[in-house]
Amino acid sequence: MNRETLPDLRRLLLVLGAALVLGLLLGHPFALLLLGLLGYVLWQYRALAGFLAYARHGAEDRLLDLPGITNDLVREFEMMRDAHAQWEQKLNVYLQRFEEATEALPDAVVVVNDSGTIEWANPRARDYLGIEWPRDAGQRLVNLLRYPELTAYLQARAGRPREKVLELQSPVDPGRRLELRINLYGGAQLLLMARDITELYRINRMRKDFIANASHELRTPLTVIAGYLEAFEGDTANCPPDWQPRIAQMREQSARMQRLIEDLLELSRLESAGEMEHGEQVAVADMLESILREAQSLSGGRHEFTQDLDPGLGLHGDRHDLYKAFSNIIFNAVQYTPAGGRITVRWYRDADGAHLAVRDTGEGIEEYHLPRLTERFYRVDKGRSRASGGTGLGLAIVKHALTRHTARLHIESSPGKGSLFRCDFPPRALWQRPAAVPANM
Ligand code: ADP
Repeated sequence: MNRETLPDLRRLLLVLGAALVLGLLLGHPFALLLLGLLGYVLWQYRALAGFLAYARHGAEDRLLDLPGITNDLVREFEMMRDAHAQWEQKLNVYLQRFEEATEALPDAVVVVNDSGTIEWANPRARDYLGIEWPRDAGQRLVNLLRYPELTAYLQARAGRPREKVLELQSPVDPGRRLELRINLYGGAQLLLMARDITELYRINRMRKDFIANASHELRTPLTVIAGYLEAFEGDTANCPPDWQPRIAQMREQSARMQRLIEDLLELSRLESAGEMEHGEQVAVADMLESILREAQSLSGGRHEFTQDLDPGLGLHGDRHDLYKAFSNIIFNAVQYTPAGGRITVRWYRDADGAHLAVRDTGEGIEEYHLPRLTERFYRVDKGRSRASGGTGLGLAIVKHALTRHTARLHIESSPGKGSLFRCDFPPRALWQRPAAVPANM
């Protein structure tokens, strides 16, 4: 038996004992026992009701100062209340610190729950995204931020990446450029972080514009120079014969500069084009056949070609970009494979999507070069690339063209053995050409 229940039990026995004695004296022991019990229950009930009033509304005057279980309940309750108050105070301090830290954060932060409604936002979210806390609590994020890419990401429940980065214009300040980083956590909750990249965007645009404008401006004078050089070449009547080798060299160099300018213009076009929305249906096998014919003429019979192309497998994409990407890879295989080598081109599909694999038995590349190959002007062997007329921009163009198609470039190579350049397209980029109907049907 509990120590706390002892006074209550003693009190109950005392009441019942007194009721029994009085009942015997009056000749109604059972009635008085019942009366005593009822009185005791009512009294306890009053004590409990007083405790409830105290617990709910802090009504101290309703408490009966009694020894026993009610009193212990009051003490226990008070201890718990004090501990709770201490915790609340601590939490308030943490919360205040957290709020101060998020206020000082230079980025906007928004927390979105499983059902796509706003749970919390820091003050910067108002300046960058127009989302104000607590005004917009419980609002659907897609109703406040109307960007097709964001909506598509939020609506795609299954298979969406855990992190997505979007670049967009601020909905409240058109002059502000934002990088929106979306992180998926704990099932379907989202943490959105928006960073101001206006300055970076401006410098980047200046760089792109400068390269595009300079290349564009150089194009016409170069065409004129190349034209005159072409006219002088072989014209021994107007141009002394001992100048002919120099003219041939100048022609070669001007052609190289023209290729460089065309590649620079191609790159700036790809850079500003962004991700493709709706591509046209491209019959890839036909395109590869035509590239392979060009590659064979470039090879001039020095290489053995093998091809295995799925004729019905097509892509949704940009014909010009795909041509540029595929031709660069295949022409590189010709350039960097010595005579007698083999070049194998495969266009096929599997569970991961569609793939163009170009394998050569050429000189190969040391592993440490591989991560840098798609950088502009990165060459493994500068002399070799220049001698073969390379601009050093080919694989950068390939990478940008593939990125537009949400595809990736995979490179495997070992020196002396050869290389594999593979373009991997996701299943959603595929298009299956209907089988041709036989003529006699
Ligand atoms: P380039 O115009 O110099 O060919 P790219 O960007 O197309 O420039 O390629 C970058 C470098 O990658 C090349 O200079 C070359 O060293 C290397 N490379 C590309 N393709 C191959 C290949 N099939 N085999 C060996 N090296 C290659």
